[in-house]
Amino acid sequence: MVQGFLLKYAEIGIKGKNRYKFENALCEQVKIKLSKIDGDYTVVREQGRIYAEASGSFDFDEVVEELKKVAGITAISPVEVIEDKSWDNLKKAAGDFIEKQYDKTDFSFKVKAKRSDKHYIYTSPEVCIEMGAYLLGRFGGLKVDVHNPDVYIWIEIRDKAYVYSKVYQGLGGMPLGTAGKAMLLLSGGIDSPVAGYMVSRRGVNIDAVYFHAPPYTSERAKQKVVDLAELISQYTGKINLYVVNFTDIQMYIYEQCPHEELTIIMRRYMMRIAEEFAVNNNCMGLITGESIGQVASQTMQSLAVTNEVCTMPVYRPLIAFDKQDIVNIAEKIGTFETSIQPYEDCCTIFVAKHPVTKPVAEVIRKSEKKLEEKIDEMVREAVNTAEKIEIDG
Ligand code: ATP
Ligand code: MG
Repeated sequence: MVQGFLLKYAEIGIKGKNRYKFENALCEQVKIKLSKIDGDYTVVREQGRIYAEASGSFDFDEVVEELKKVAGITAISPVEVIEDKSWDNLKKAAGDFIEKQYDKTDFSFKVKAKRSDKHYIYTSPEVCIEMGAYLLGRFGGLKVDVHNPDVYIWIEIRDKAYVYSKVYQGLGGMPLGTAGKAMLLLSGGIDSPVAGYMVSRRGVNIDAVYFHAPPYTSERAKQKVVDLAELISQYTGKINLYVVNFTDIQMYIYEQCPHEELTIIMRRYMMRIAEEFAVNNNCMGLITGESIGQVASQTMQSLAVTNEVCTMPVYRPLIAFDKQDIVNIAEKIGTFETSIQPYEDCCTIFVAKHPVTKPVAEVIRKSEKKLEEKIDEMVREAVNTAEKIEIDG
């Protein structure tokens, strides 16, 4: 008997003649994910689903946990593959599988059967009846409930026979590599890692840029961002993280512009610089963790003024999310504990007591004119001296 994992997907199924591209991409991602853990795996695509066969020494729970991070999969079922599908062997193997899967066999169940081998001795309804009777006889605590069973037991009879029962919920979304790439503005906060994860879950590869302001922001603050990139890379795959030294630009804005406009002007320069990295890395858009009204720089007026400097689309998946909803996702994907470590962020340095909450584009543009003398050169310098950190995923 061979242990495997049956992987189901949903949206890919409706992709018409491009469907195979999505399926191949999903197989590829499953292979990449499983190559990082113990065990040997063969991944095959068959009739609307993907099947990963496991051998060697592998840890069942670890496989399920890793597969739960692969975008595009909606459900994961451990399955037993039964090569000798003669009825006597099949029913015994199905019983052994149930025994192994469930600590206690005291639930109600219903057998569901599918048969593509039309020469098999039993029809599908007969398989259900015969298997049900066998399992009832073998396990005292079981009950049949055809309307509302605790557990479904699936028997599929193809070239080989397959038995499965438990279903673990997958991540959903679309497979990585099917949508192109975007540049994430990644800070050390709660929101931006979640934003990157969410967009990536739709099949988008991610690179990231972090604005660092040494000595005002410490090495630890930078390390926190690297840690966050590593955490989300379990979902997003490989990330090129660019660490941009933003100190001189920030100081220059501070010296030249009204202090209550510092944050908004700084955010405009972050967007401009991020867009340069995006262009150089074949990205089709920017991603931020902004959400309407969360802070002064995220009022609709501020968002409009920030947005003005971008020519690429800016994806803001959290735009209508409450903080608690974002926290819930951060906890689910495992970034929350790292995000709340108390290291300073470049945005919190020199912040005005009363930043503008309703900036007017005209006014901000006029203030930026005061930067004309040096800013282009400073931006060039910041782009050219950025450190690139490759996060493996
Ligand atoms: P986050 O929790 O993501 O830090 P926030 O609530 O602190 O967000 P802001 O500090 O206003 O909000 O930042 C809004 C967005 O701008 C962030 O979600 C992020 O995408 C981007 N951003 C802010 N600071 C930086 C930074 N130092 N480096 C890169 N991107 C940044
Ligand atoms: Mg922040």
